[in-house]
Amino acid sequence: MIQEKAIVVFSGGQDSTTCLFWAKERFSEVEAVTFDYGQRHRLEIECAAEIAQELGVKHHILDMSLLNQLAPSALTRNEIEVADGKDDELPSSFVPGRNLVFLSFAGILAAQVGAKYIVTGVCETDFSGYPDCRDIFIKSLNVTLNLSMDKAFVIETPLMWLNKAQTWELADSLGALEFIRERTLTCYNGIKSDGCGTCPACKLRQRGLEQYISSKKNEQQAQM
Ligand code: ZN
Repeated sequence: MIQEKAIVVFSGGQDSTTCLFWAKERFSEVEAVTFDYGQRHRLEIECAAEIAQELGVKHHILDMSLLNQLAPSALTRNEIEVADGKDDELPSSFVPGRNLVFLSFAGILAAQVGAKYIVTGVCETDFSGYPDCRDIFIKSLNVTLNLSMDKAFVIETPLMWLNKAQTWELADSLGALEFIRERTLTCYNGIKSDGCGTCPACKLRQRGLEQYISSKKNEQQAQM
């Protein structure tokens, strides 16, 4: 256990909830921050608040409505359909600058509450082409944040090189698989738990879970 405080960037979805469990095992003190940017699904913020309360984690909700005003996307506008990008285009769910803004504000919050670690669930493996989920972006921003505040923050990205099946495996190893399956919201159509089953986020989540469960079964059979 590291005797330091960590801030977890927390949306109430599968990835950031896994990160929250991960951080709670690793750091002596953990707080969570959720950004309210006018998400299409208000339930996301309710889910995050419920989970934080249940895990006994102090929860900050910061108003980021400016991001919605500047960067309309399928995650903030009902009239934009969630779709994968065609050819070289980014998916319509991409919010330009989102992780730059979120992690910068997480850094400001970390400075205020005396946290050295900032934990985020960004992932390059399943990154759908989002440039601000790449490891190189996170490393670059870590340097920039430290220079901007003369601090020694460490941005932790426990999911960076995991695929969805491995993220479920991590959740399971933290004893949190069922909790995360039932309590989190990842679905672009705003349906908790297993979701709508048809949007890109649900498909990715479901496929990962099936892969993990079948590989676990195979392993158990091999041991018998
Ligand atoms: Zn869905």
